[in-house]
Amino acid sequence: MFGLIGHLTSLEHAQSVAKELGYPEYADRGLDFWCSAPPQIVDTIEVTSITGQKIQGKYVESCFLPEMLANRRIKAATRKVINAMAHAQKNGIDITALGGFSSIIFENFNLEKLKQIRNVTLEFKRFTTGNTHTAYVICRQVEQAAEKLGIELSKATVAVCGATGDIGSAICRWLSAKTSVKELLLIARDRERLNALQSELGRGQILDLEAALPQADIVVWVASMPKGVEINGEVLKKPCLLIDGGYPKNMETKVRHPEIHVLKGGIVEHSLDIDWKIMKIVNMDVPGRQLFACFAESMLLEFEKIYTNFSWGRNQITVEKMEEIGKISVKHGFRPLMLSPGEI
Ligand code: NDP
Repeated sequence: MFGLIGHLTSLEHAQSVAKELGYPEYADRGLDFWCSAPPQIVDTIEVTSITGQKIQGKYVESCFLPEMLANRRIKAATRKVINAMAHAQKNGIDITALGGFSSIIFENFNLEKLKQIRNVTLEFKRFTTGNTHTAYVICRQVEQAAEKLGIELSKATVAVCGATGDIGSAICRWLSAKTSVKELLLIARDRERLNALQSELGRGQILDLEAALPQADIVVWVASMPKGVEINGEVLKKPCLLIDGGYPKNMETKVRHPEIHVLKGGIVEHSLDIDWKIMKIVNMDVPGRQLFACFAESMLLEFEKIYTNFSWGRNQITVEKMEEIGKISVKHGFRPLMLSPGEI
């Protein structure tokens, strides 16, 4: 059985869906209440592959909210993640994806050392960050959407915001090794890590966001921001493709311009309907078929009976592993979300 550990995007979002989620008493309560809420399995799932194979899974709501980080409720945030992991393991789930901020909190606060959660000894091989599949999907979105929009990669400048992150660095590796992208702009805050990435890639220009945006034909957002930044469409090139892979979204753009194309990044569409309610709660456009690529990774590992932490640690995702998970993704009927005809 596969599992998904997820969370909502804000306190406001949590309050508005508390009833549907099974926490009706939290609908009008503040952050303190969410800080004390235990993890809960709120959805059972059945997925059918295009091969005909069927698998079952469970969705574990961790009750983490990005405001916990913004308000320095670090202890609550870390407890949410490890308690949700222990809950998944106690419920017999073989492979569970750590969605959204769960894997970021796990890494940033070094939760690997907290193995014993009451009577549960966490077995980390039962968990995957899902970041290999997410990075693969975003790279395919860059390639496919660029082609649709007539942006030639060999003449294009691609800016990656969050380039030194787990997903961002994997995207940079793929774009360098497998595409003819003309120029790569690397954006993050920590200069040392940017320098290390630049020497690993043997290419890429380190720039801050303000300098990078006006130069980019394609902008990929994979920064771990608890709240999105506002973009001024005036400064962007026309045409420009913006792929927002963050959860919550990294970018708050109200830009309405026929030549600025915004694509939800790291989202896959399944060929068949999935029997679940959770994607409606997180406001997916087509909740029966669309989902986060990291969640799909645990489904893929379950389909293939690969019970190991396929994606783990930081900045270790190789192009080979992305190709491997990409093949499995196609085999079972998942495809990267594309721009709809109205968005082109
Ligand atoms: P990491 O923590 O590994 O990396 C985050 C990156 O963002 C780093 O390069 C960091 O560098 C940079 N960053 C953080 N804050 C800022 C800022 N204010 N300005 C510029 N750069 C910034 O995160 P992941 O790679 O694991 O995840 C990235 C995003 O993808 C997250 O939003 C996550 O929720 C989302 N995600 C989406 C999935 C999906 O299925 N669609 C699956 C998993 C994750 P520095 O700190 O030096 O600035």
